[in-house]
Amino acid sequence: MSILSGLSNLGLGDLEDLKVYDDNNIKGKVSPEEKEKTVDEIDFLLAKEYECPVCNAKFKQMVLRSNKARMIGQDMDLRPHYYYIDVTKYDVIMCPHCGYAALLRYFGPLPKPHRELIKTNISSKFKETEEPKGIISYEEALVRYKIALVNAIVRQAKNSEKAYICLKTSWVLRGMREMIDQNTPENEKKKAELLLQEKEYQKNAMEGFIAARGNELPPIAGMNEVAADYLIAVLLVQFERYADAAKLVQGVLGSNKATANQKDKARVLIGEIKNALSK
Ligand SMILES: [Zn+2]
Repeated sequence: MSILSGLSNLGLGDLEDLKVYDDNNIKGKVSPEEKEKTVDEIDFLLAKEYECPVCNAKFKQMVLRSNKARMIGQDMDLRPHYYYIDVTKYDVIMCPHCGYAALLRYFGPLPKPHRELIKTNISSKFKETEEPKGIISYEEALVRYKIALVNAIVRQAKNSEKAYICLKTSWVLRGMREMIDQNTPENEKKKAELLLQEKEYQKNAMEGFIAARGNELPPIAGMNEVAADYLIAVLLVQFERYADAAKLVQGVLGSNKATANQKDKARVLIGEIKNALSK
């Protein structure tokens, strides 16, 4: 007798013989690869309500369902990789009514002078948009990051906040570039353009974080000095400023605040710097 016997009363008699660990008799069976594909970006998101600190309107926005998403790695510059979703696309919270936007980390109550700066310089001209109802494209994400940056500039935010927006914008551009897979001449051109833009944002991020290390107390965009110095060193290497980068990495290696993981990463970076200098 099958362990599934007794289902015929429910009209499922033909399923009584299914084997628990053998899926060959399943009608319309899909391969494990196809099954993977049925996981959708939207499954990792949920609509959350926010109240705008500038115009007080309530609006909904898709944010990461953190209990579902799984991080699987990081780029050197800390850009996270998750299964099935590029989480960076969802990190800007933007009021669709008045145009106030900020990274999730910074979204919250604002002092009156800041609200006034945004009303005068942004809201007065901003055209209302729709709340994003589902997944957002890289193009939409890029616009949201640009609006967040404009907001940060207008309300004279700290260097670290502006630098962090620039860094994350460079990640969006990288994600966009990685999505282009066919190597047609047209795609190659598009990739080169995206890389140029990515570099521009990276450069702005590097300059902002260096300024922030000079005139802000940690945490710098949520990072302690060790994490910030490592990140700045990674960015300096991108622009071939190896001596400055090496100095910061040596500082990380010598710091008693650095974790074993941070020291490991610093050693990898030192290796890269040595490699680059020996060429
Ligand atoms: Zn608003």
